[in-house]
Amino acid sequence: MASYLYDLIARRAPSADKVFLETPEGRKLTYGDLASGSARFAQALAKLGVVAGDRVAVQVEKSPEAILLYLACLRAGAVFLPLNTAYTPAEIDYFLGDAKPRVFVCDPASRDKLAAVAEKAGAHIETLGVKEEGSLLDLARQQAGTFTDVERGKDDLAAILYTSGTTGRSKGAMLSHDNLASNALTLVDYWRFTKDDVLIHALPIYHTHGLFVAMNTLLLAGGSMFFLPKLDAELIMKLMPRATSMMGVPTFYTRLLQHAGLTKDATKHMRLFVSGSAPLLAETHREWRDRTGHAILERYGMTETNMNTSNPYDGDRVAGTVGFPLPGVSARVTDPDTGAALPRGEIGMIEVKGPNVFKGYWQMPEKTKAEFRDDGFFITGDLGKIDEKGYVHIVGRGKDLVITGGFNVYPIEVETEIDGMPGVVESAVVGLPHADFGEGVTAVVVPQKGAKLDEKEIIAALEQRLAKFKLPKRVLFVDELPRNTMGKVQKAALRQTYESLYK
Ligand code: AMP
Repeated sequence: MASYLYDLIARRAPSADKVFLETPEGRKLTYGDLASGSARFAQALAKLGVVAGDRVAVQVEKSPEAILLYLACLRAGAVFLPLNTAYTPAEIDYFLGDAKPRVFVCDPASRDKLAAVAEKAGAHIETLGVKEEGSLLDLARQQAGTFTDVERGKDDLAAILYTSGTTGRSKGAMLSHDNLASNALTLVDYWRFTKDDVLIHALPIYHTHGLFVAMNTLLLAGGSMFFLPKLDAELIMKLMPRATSMMGVPTFYTRLLQHAGLTKDATKHMRLFVSGSAPLLAETHREWRDRTGHAILERYGMTETNMNTSNPYDGDRVAGTVGFPLPGVSARVTDPDTGAALPRGEIGMIEVKGPNVFKGYWQMPEKTKAEFRDDGFFITGDLGKIDEKGYVHIVGRGKDLVITGGFNVYPIEVETEIDGMPGVVESAVVGLPHADFGEGVTAVVVPQKGAKLDEKEIIAALEQRLAKFKLPKRVLFVDELPRNTMGKVQKAALRQTYESLYK
C-alpha cells in the first residue's frame, strides 16, 4: 500500500541519519525521525477514527511536530487542512462547519476557547504545542514507529487550503497528491535543489509558500532546512554562512536590506534567493543585487495553482516580472470579459492550466465552474501580460483595477511612478467611491523618514508622466501600508479605511 506523495518523498529520502531540519534551539529531526515520527502520528490519527478522505484541520504554531502531522495525514489517507494561526474562534467556527473535519488539532492554550466550535462541527479536538507537548503528541508517543500507509493515488485529495478570502467567504482549495507532487518535482529541477541544499525556512506553514513550495521541494530534494519560527533578520544573517538558499516574501528582503551586515561576503555561501506571494519592488531587486551580488529569483503562484511561473535559474532574472511558465504549465492572457486570447504584450486576465492546478473549491461546484474555462484553463483573477521575450508581468488583482470615468487604471502603473520619486518608500493605489467618476484614483504613500512630501507636488510630477485620467485625485501619507502575514498589501483594508474620502 502506498500514499502517492508520501511514497515519493520516502523513495527519494537520503540516509535515515541525515538531518532534515534544525531549529534555533538546536533541535534536529533526521529523515529517519520523519519516517518514524509521522508513522506514530498516523497511528494516532487512525486511533481517533480517521479514515481515507477525512479532513484533519490544524491550527497550530510552527513546530517540527506540525511537519510530522502533515506527513502523517498523507500516510493516513487524510486531507490536511492547515489554518492561519491568526484566525479567531468565530472564523474557525466557519472553517470547521464548512470542512467538517474528523479531527481538529489546536494549540494547547486555545483548547478551552475552541472546544465548543469543534464539538458543534462534530470534530474530535486534540492539541499540539511548540514545546513538544499536547494531547496528540502524547497519543502519538504511545504508538509504534511503523505504519502501513493508506492507499492514495495521484488524484486523491492531499490538502485543502482556504484562500485568504478578501471578497466574500473564504473558499477551500482542494489539492490532490499529484497537484503537490508534480509542482514540487518541477521546482526541484527548475531551481536545482539537491541533497546538499540547506534552506532558511522562516515562513509560516499554514500557507502554500512555506508548506508546499518550501517544504515539499526540500523533502523531494532530500535537502535540509533551518526551521525558524518567524522572520528574524538577525538570526537569518547568522545562518547564511551555513545555508545555501532562502525562500521569502518581499518583506524578508526589505528587512534584510536594513541590516548593516548584509554584504557580498555575508551571502557568499548562498546560491539562491527566491521571492514570491506578493510583488517584489524592482528597487528591492536592484538594491539586493548591489549589496549581495545575487539576483533575487521571483516566482508567481497561488493557493489554487501552486507555482505557475518563475524567473530562470540561468539567464536573466528580470526585476518586475515573474518569469516564464514552469515546465508543464500553460499560461495565457485573455480579455477578462469575453475570454478571447489577447496578443502578446496586451494586459488582460492571466489563465493557467497544468497538473499544478487544483481540483476545485470544496463543496462549491458553481464557484469552481465559474472560475474555469471550458478548455480547462483556470481564471486566476490576476491581471498581467506576457512580453515579447515570454516573461510574465503581473499588474495586480482584477478586483484592484480602478475604473474611473469609464477608463481602466492599473494601479501598478501609477505606483511605479510614485515609488520612483525621491523620498518615497512605497505606495499603494486604490479606487475609492466617487460620485462623478465611479471611482477616484487615490494614492497612499509611505514617505522615507524625515522626507517632506507634498500632495500637490506629487500630482504635478505625475502630470508629466501619466495620462490625466490616471492621476490620483488625492495623495495620502501613512507610516506603513497594511499587510497580511504573507506581505501582501491589503488593498481592501485601504478601500475600507478611506471609503468616505470623496463623499
Ligand atoms: P495566495 O493564494 O495567498 O498565495 O495568493 C496568491 C496571489 O498572490 C496571486 O493570485 C497574486 O495576486 C499574488 N502573488 C503571488 N506571487 C506574486 C508575485 N511574485 N508578484 C505579484 N503577485 C504575486
